[in-house]
Amino acid sequence: MERFETDVVVIGAGAVGLAVARSLAMAGRDVMVLEAASGIATETSSRNSEVIHAGLYYPGGSLKARLCVRGRRLLYQYCNERGVEARACGKFVVAVTDAEAEAVPALLARARDNDVEDLCLIDGDEARRIEPALSPGVRTALVSPVSGVFDSHAYFLSLQGEIEDRGGAVVFETPVVRGFVTADGVELETGGASPVRIGARSVINSAGHRALQIARAIEGGPQYPHLKMRWVKGSYFSTSGPPAFSRLIYPMHNSASLGLHLSVDLAGRTRLGPDAEWLDEAASPPFDYAVDPARAELCYAEVRRYWPGLPDGTIAPDYSGVRPKIVGPGDAPGDFLIDGPQGHGVAGVVNLIGIESPGLTSSLAIGEWVAGLVDLK
Ligand SMILES: Cc1cc2nc3c(=O)[nH]c(=O)nc-3n(C[C@H](O)[C@H](O)[C@H](O)COP(=O)(O)OP(=O)(O)OC[C@H]3O[C@@H](n4cnc5c(N)ncnc54)[C@H](O)[C@@H]3O)c2cc1C
Repeated sequence: MERFETDVVVIGAGAVGLAVARSLAMAGRDVMVLEAASGIATETSSRNSEVIHAGLYYPGGSLKARLCVRGRRLLYQYCNERGVEARACGKFVVAVTDAEAEAVPALLARARDNDVEDLCLIDGDEARRIEPALSPGVRTALVSPVSGVFDSHAYFLSLQGEIEDRGGAVVFETPVVRGFVTADGVELETGGASPVRIGARSVINSAGHRALQIARAIEGGPQYPHLKMRWVKGSYFSTSGPPAFSRLIYPMHNSASLGLHLSVDLAGRTRLGPDAEWLDEAASPPFDYAVDPARAELCYAEVRRYWPGLPDGTIAPDYSGVRPKIVGPGDAPGDFLIDGPQGHGVAGVVNLIGIESPGLTSSLAIGEWVAGLVDLK
């Protein structure tokens, strides 16, 4: 089996792996990204809402809160500088029931603690003046002007270009199957048509759904016996006709997701979803991404709480994604697990596990963060 040596290997060319590799390449590191699929960002990074989150929801001090707010600022700046289309269209989080309306001030306070800019509360009449299709039942709305949408695929291509411009490589159809920690770093073995061995001083495991599995396949690395991955599928529906809203409309969130929301993408298409469906405990990747048309009924019911004018027969199953969770149903929402040598004690290994939403928004900030962890002992 052929053997190569490099400075840093990043496993996985999704949004996060690419952003991490870019940060390392910009810091002068010699980076190789190993990707199992035949292209960049074919998994969760292509199966999401493409929303740039403000950072409203996450507990103060959590990695999600800090990296989302920092990542959002970096992402707008990056898109602006690199010609990637992004639009800060703004977002309303709408409350319909008494309980939802009572919870809005706490969400506002949390978002302000997280350092989210320009927030305010408006009443239902003001919300309907700005977005006339909103339900008369909407009592109050939290307004977040810095939330937006962007062209994530142009972003991924731009990241790949920057990695390659700095001498890095993104290598496809090269799944990492196992590895072991050595005195000098980590020795990896790949599968695919031409298996190879690669010796690296540092390995960043950003394998998305398979990140825990890969961590456990590296002998001598942290094994996380207490962790169990759980999966929440999110299905989307598209609507026909011109968009009824110009902002993102989110209901007050529930625990597994941010609620079944409405977004208008850069092409002007209205997208409804994702919903939230906990998969069976025994489920594991690869997942069935087919959208069950029967879930349209739930979608109509949820969306009509804030958009009663959604006409019958106008929504169609679109696509789905699966959230990788390190908590189960009923648990408090989990944080990102970004675990480097200082956390687990093994030099040269950084694992990124449970990078669910807002991972896309946070990606550049995660890149910065991980670049700072790699060489710590
Ligand atoms: C329904 C849904 C909606 C979301 N909406 C948003 C949103 O609007 N805004 C937001 O900020 N975030 C959102 N997210 C979260 C965001 O999409 C993810 O956090 C982000 O895409 C994760 O990127 P990643 O690179 O960690 O994972 P992935 O994109 O899954 O990439 C992992 C990569 O690793 C590769 N890989 C796996 N195993 C191996 C191996 N053994 N060897 C080599 N390569 C391997 C895979 O092929 C894949 O390319 C959403 C997520 C979901 C599920």
